[in-house]
Amino acid sequence: MLDQATAGPTPETSTDDLAQAGVVGVTIVWADNNGIPRSRTVPIGAFGAAAERGVGVTPLFAVFDSHDAITFDHAPLGTPSGDIRLVPVSERLVRLSGQPGFAWVPGRQVAPDGSVWPYDQRGVLERQLSRASELGLDFLAGYEMEFHLSRAEDDDGGAHVRPVYDGPSYGPAKMLAVDGFAEQLLRDLDRNGVPIGQLHGEYGPGQFEFNIAPADPVTAADLQLLARQTVHAAARAHGLRASFAPLVNPGQVGNGWHLHTSLSRAGANLLSGGDGPAGMTAEGGAYLAGLLRDLPAIVAVTAPSLSSLQRLRPGYWSGAYTCWGVENREASLRLVPATPLLGGANANVELKPSDAAANPYLAMAAVIAAGLAGIEDGLTPPEPVQENPGLWSEEQRAGRDIRRLPTSVEEQLGALLANRRIRAALGEELTDAFRAVRASDAARADGRDPAEVLRSYRWLY
Ligand code: GLU
Ligand code: MG
Repeated sequence: MLDQATAGPTPETSTDDLAQAGVVGVTIVWADNNGIPRSRTVPIGAFGAAAERGVGVTPLFAVFDSHDAITFDHAPLGTPSGDIRLVPVSERLVRLSGQPGFAWVPGRQVAPDGSVWPYDQRGVLERQLSRASELGLDFLAGYEMEFHLSRAEDDDGGAHVRPVYDGPSYGPAKMLAVDGFAEQLLRDLDRNGVPIGQLHGEYGPGQFEFNIAPADPVTAADLQLLARQTVHAAARAHGLRASFAPLVNPGQVGNGWHLHTSLSRAGANLLSGGDGPAGMTAEGGAYLAGLLRDLPAIVAVTAPSLSSLQRLRPGYWSGAYTCWGVENREASLRLVPATPLLGGANANVELKPSDAAANPYLAMAAVIAAGLAGIEDGLTPPEPVQENPGLWSEEQRAGRDIRRLPTSVEEQLGALLANRRIRAALGEELTDAFRAVRASDAARADGRDPAEVLRSYRWLY
C-alpha cells in the first residue's frame, strides 16, 4: 500500500466550465446492496437543480437483488409506493476522461424531506467515521482491484470469457497484450483523480490488478466506484470486456478486491511503533482482534454473493479461515507491518475475503465498526498464523480456534444476524433489507448448477 495521496476527484470549477468543455450529462452513481452500481444521468444544464433537490428514485433499490428482481420480503419496503431523493455529492463531480461527454458524481440517498434515509449506505459509513472521530481515531482505506479482461466478441452474448492473454502470469508480455487498454486506463485513472500505486497482469489468464492509494474511507469507496467506471470505459474502447465477478471461471483464481485499512491517533499509525505482535500498539492489536472476532459477520457484508462464496476457497489467497498472519497471503486478515524501508505510516490490515459484490460503503462500515468495538473492549489478538491453515487437520485448526468462514448464504446470514455489533452498524432496517436481498439471491440459485450460477454473476459489477 502507498503512502497517503491526496486522493479524490478534482472538482471542476463549475458546471458552466464542464458544459463549455463539451460535457452534456452528469451520471449520479450509488452502489446497491449487491455491490452493483446504479445510476441516474441528468443533462448538464439540470445539474444545479439536481444538486439542490436531488432526483427522484424508488426506495425499492434497497431490495433489488443481484439479478434485478425486487424482493418484497422486507416489510417496510413491501409495496411499490414511495420515492426518495438521490442527491449528488457535488464536490466529487469529475469529468470522465474515458467518456468525455459525461461527468460522474457519487450520490447520497435521502428521505423525501431531505432527512437521513436509513438505507443510504454512504450514511452508514459516515456514522461509523463519526464514532471513530469521537474516539480520536482517523482511518485510511484503499482497495486492490482484480479483474478479468475478455475479448468482447458479440457472437455468444458474453456467455464465455475469452481471456485476452494465456501466457506466463505477471509478465510484460501480458501487459503488451492489452497495450492500448493499459495506456488508456493509466491516463484515465489519473485524469479522473484515482491515484494508483501499480497496475499488473495478475495470476489468472486475462486477469489484471491495480491498487488505489489510501484515502479516508468515504473517499476510498467513492474512488472504487469511479475506478470501475474508468475500467469499463477503457475496456470498451479497446474491444474488451471487464469482469469484476468474484469468480469468473470455475477452478481458477478469483477476483479479490482486498480492503486495506489503517488507523491512527494524532497522526501516529497504531499498527506500528508499539511493542505488540509485529510492532502493533495495544490499540492497533485491539483493532485487529476486533476484526477477527467479528470476521464471519464482516465477510457476510464484504463477500456476500453466491459468486463470493465460490471464490472463498483454501489455497487461492482469498481467505477461507478465521485467522490473521503477518504478510500471510492465506490468512483472511493479513497484517502488512511497518518496515525500515517504508516506515511506520504504511502499516495496514488487509481483508482478503472482500470483493466486488460488496457495497464498498457498507464493507468499510462493517470493518470499522468491528475494529472500534475491539478497541472499546480492549481485545488482544491471538498468535499470528504463518502457514496455510487449509493444510492443517481439523484438530489443529480447532486447537487454534480457527474456523472455516461460512460457505453458504444461510450460514452467512446466521453469522450476520447473530452479530449485534455489525447489525447495529448497518442499522436494523438496512440489515433486514440486506437479509431479504441475500435470501432472494439464494432462492434463485437453489438447485441450479454451480457453473450456471457462476455465469449469472459474470458481468454484473
Ligand atoms: N486472486 C486472489 C483473490 O481471489 C488474490 C491474489 C493476491 O493475493 O493478489 O483474492
Ligand atoms: Mg492480487
